[in-house]
Amino acid sequence: PDVAAGVSEHVLDVPDFPQSGVMFKDLTPLFADPTGFRRAIDAIIAYHGVESFDVVAGVEARGFVIAAAVAYATGTGVVPVRKAGKLPRNTVAASYALEYGEATLEVHADAFHAGERVLVVDDVLATGGTAEASLDLVERAGGRVAGFSVLLELGFLGGRQRLAPRPVHALLTV
Ligand code: IMP
Repeated sequence: PDVAAGVSEHVLDVPDFPQSGVMFKDLTPLFADPTGFRRAIDAIIAYHGVESFDVVAGVEARGFVIAAAVAYATGTGVVPVRKAGKLPRNTVAASYALEYGEATLEVHADAFHAGERVLVVDDVLATGGTAEASLDLVERAGGRVAGFSVLLELGFLGGRQRLAPRPVHALLTV
């Protein structure tokens, strides 16, 4: 199956969300579609290979859905990368600039065994700030980034360049 087309047919463009001038890509129809969702998850796993990672880190909140499916299908586990203040124990934190203000992500400081190979997943790569902070956190918490996948990359926002030389895998780039 054509994976990019499969993603594309279940993405909805929502104008002026969350603010005026932004065209938001809504991937909830893809999550809700049995065939589309399964093919997307299978494509992520096939791209990296089951043997290439030990655990899957999902970025709050839609990354959790993807991470859980990938982990279940590969017999691995999930580590949540969460917004500030949600995790109950010691964390490492990374802050990054948004258009207005700042955002902080956290992961439990003991989330990974030393050198554990971590596949990081999220739904959308936009400017790359979220991904950069997430990959940084995984490494600061002792993990090794084995790969990074998103369902959809907004290529015109330059996230891939920002993350270079780290490789980015996107099922669909627009
Ligand atoms: P970035 O940090 O600018 O790359 O934004 C990526 C983060 O914001 C991801 O966690 C996405 O879930 C979310 N995001 C940004 N733009 C969109 C969009 O158009 N649709 C869905 N999520 C988005």
